[in-house]
Amino acid sequence: MKKILIAEDSSTMRSLLVATIESLGGYLVSEAASGFEALRLLPREPVDLIITDINMPDINGLELVSFVRGSENYRHIPLFIISTEGSERDREKGLALGANEYLVKPFDPARLQELIKQYTA
Ligand SMILES: [Mg+2]
Repeated sequence: MKKILIAEDSSTMRSLLVATIESLGGYLVSEAASGFEALRLLPREPVDLIITDINMPDINGLELVSFVRGSENYRHIPLFIISTEGSERDREKGLALGANEYLVKPFDPARLQELIKQYTA
């Protein structure tokens, strides 16, 4: 089983992401309701992919990306941003910080599934 960590403060969006991932089969999902919770979960078990929102209370998604890419232990982990912020500037910022993919909500489940398979192959 591959492990995916989701950082998303909206429980509705989290459920949607979990359902999209679990319907692929072969993936276990850890859910964090904030950036801070994601940082707390990261050391607990190795993960194969991180998917993060940007707008969250406490630590936001861009700060999470910076932390992960700056950390010797986690910098190799593929990371996707999924955000309501769809401007080219936000996208460039996310990718410049080291996110591998930047998807805009509402996301296309089939596209997300393809990317997950690609990055965890
Ligand atoms: Mg949010």
